[in-house]
Amino acid sequence: MPLADLLKEGERIMIICNACRYCEGHCAVFPAMEQRTEFPPRDLAYLANLCHDCGSCYHHCQYAPPHEFAVNVPETFKGIREQTYRQYAWPRALSGLFESNAIATAAVVISTIVLLGFLAVSVAAPGAMYQPHEGPGAFYEIVPHDAMIVLFGVVWMFALVAFAVGFARFWRDSGPGGKISARHLGRATLDILRLRYLDGGAGDGCTYPREAPSQARRVFHHFTYYGFLFCLASTTVAAIYDNFLARKAPYPILSAPVLLGIVGGVGLLVGPIGLSILKFRSDPVPNPRSRLVMDVTFLVLLFLTSATGFLLLVLRSTAAMGPLLALHLGFVLGLFATLPYGKFVHAVYRFAALLRYAVEKPAS
Ligand code: SF4
Ligand code: SF4
Repeated sequence: MPLADLLKEGERIMIICNACRYCEGHCAVFPAMEQRTEFPPRDLAYLANLCHDCGSCYHHCQYAPPHEFAVNVPETFKGIREQTYRQYAWPRALSGLFESNAIATAAVVISTIVLLGFLAVSVAAPGAMYQPHEGPGAFYEIVPHDAMIVLFGVVWMFALVAFAVGFARFWRDSGPGGKISARHLGRATLDILRLRYLDGGAGDGCTYPREAPSQARRVFHHFTYYGFLFCLASTTVAAIYDNFLARKAPYPILSAPVLLGIVGGVGLLVGPIGLSILKFRSDPVPNPRSRLVMDVTFLVLLFLTSATGFLLLVLRSTAAMGPLLALHLGFVLGLFATLPYGKFVHAVYRFAALLRYAVEKPAS
């Protein structure tokens, strides 16, 4: 649907919902909606990013299709959310990566795998790529330490700047400034850490994948989300070991980076599989299959990044270590490079929307 039609539809639905107000206990969207009488594009972008697509309002709505009002909040908000991802992308020239997201992501990841493979083959000693390597510093015989620092440092910093610019643009457009206090930040952070609104409002879970309330989505989302955070913690601890404690990778199984990586890696296997299954079992009316491509692309990338990490861990003392290291690092670099241009950005805008909600809530 063209953007102008999408925004018109969002405004039409919010006017109906604002008169009805039956769903005000379902999530943060409806109390935020009730503080408004008009729904210009910037308010719709804010409300759409408060919505986490649980489907509850759709399944409880007496005006949902086939009623002539055809109220379908989750589908309409999903379209508006995706538009905000493009609108706030930095640099804007790369916002096109949200289109044909599966192809764009695959192209970037294949490029980073090829780059790491080329780097390994060109700098490792002749034949070293296919020989077993043992002990501290073994990884750097395949990909030099400095090359890893530069490559990953640059890509990660680029992603952080893209998130910061996107957050600032969204915040500027989503409402009047409002003073952010530590209490607002704490509330929004807690809501994110607990995935509060995935409890369905009454605590019995989302109406997802189908009409019956279920905690499945919240559980698998937690696996994915905390899996990602544990893997990030593993990488951070490994960087501290390497750069400040002169302890070179690979590390023993019973070390903080590896244990954090194993816990995070399990989360990134279980979570994406569970969420993908739920997505394909979900009701296609509020969740059209054509709209799942970006979500599933990101889940597949997380799964493959984790799976190659485990393969590397199991086979790191064999001759397969060199190719597996290049493969896994290629996936990690591709993941970092595509984070600002795929499903991951929902975390940035969801947090901004929850922060906005925390700031304006006392006025309700
Ligand atoms: S989604 Fe339907 S039931 Fe819920 S507030 Fe809107 S119109 Fe009312
Ligand atoms: S789909 Fe769920 S999160 Fe979105 S507006 Fe409806 S009840 Fe709220």
